[in-house]
Amino acid sequence: VGTFYVVATPIGNLADLTERAKQVLTSVDVIACEDTRHTAKLLQHLGLRKPLLSVHEHNERERVEQIARHLEQGQSMALVSDAGTPLISDPGYPLVQALRARGLNVSPIPGVSAIITALSAAGLPTDRFTFEGFLPHKSGAKREKLLAQEQEARTLVYYESKHRILDTLEVMAEVFGAERQACVARELTKTFETFYHGTLPGILSQLQADADQQKGEFVVMIAGNPDPAPASEVDSNKLFRLLLAELP
Ligand code: SAM
Repeated sequence: VGTFYVVATPIGNLADLTERAKQVLTSVDVIACEDTRHTAKLLQHLGLRKPLLSVHEHNERERVEQIARHLEQGQSMALVSDAGTPLISDPGYPLVQALRARGLNVSPIPGVSAIITALSAAGLPTDRFTFEGFLPHKSGAKREKLLAQEQEARTLVYYESKHRILDTLEVMAEVFGAERQACVARELTKTFETFYHGTLPGILSQLQADADQQKGEFVVMIAGNPDPAPASEVDSNKLFRLLLAELP
């Protein structure tokens, strides 16, 4: 029976591809990927030609049979996403779950993920953190989610895109207040990598002042609440702030 390798790829700098990732991508029979054009470029960089199989949100469940058959016939496969570690805000979870349920071999080839890369240089507590992925796009749902996290004592980590970074920072500044320490990591491992550190209003105004800095990819990190309220007070606080936000 073949092995299904979950392979991390770079988040910007191609030199971050590990030696093992190269070996595995060279040795597997088929590469399952999020976007075949994107992965074709990576393979071209490595001088490799491999059959590619597209796996994305909409066909992942249908692919299970096909991939399980390949593996049972002794073929090995790799899963890669467009950037970073598959399954981390990227496709792959239903597939890996189904392959594990069938007792097939799934093996990780570790490498970069934007979460750990950002945290490692942010200067915020890293002993405990919670990864929240992408926030809802709509401002109301976003605010509600953030309000529910305002009492969290662990460092909070979010992914955000250029389309929503300003709106998200605005809502965060409102919900977490002017004191809370935060860090925004932009374009990690790329030419224009930038870290913004300080309070949320401070970071927001730096980004607002420079349109170029609103482009690219972002990880937003917020220090945990140093003094979380007792559980009984949380609900009334939350309700109060939710009601306040609805006022004209
Ligand atoms: N699987 C990836 C990982 O392991 O980090 C994440 C994929 S997710 C679809 C894309 C998001 O990850 C971006 O919107 C951004 O929030 C974050 N991200 C990816 N690459 C980044 C980079 N070079 N700099 C900052 N954030 C990045």
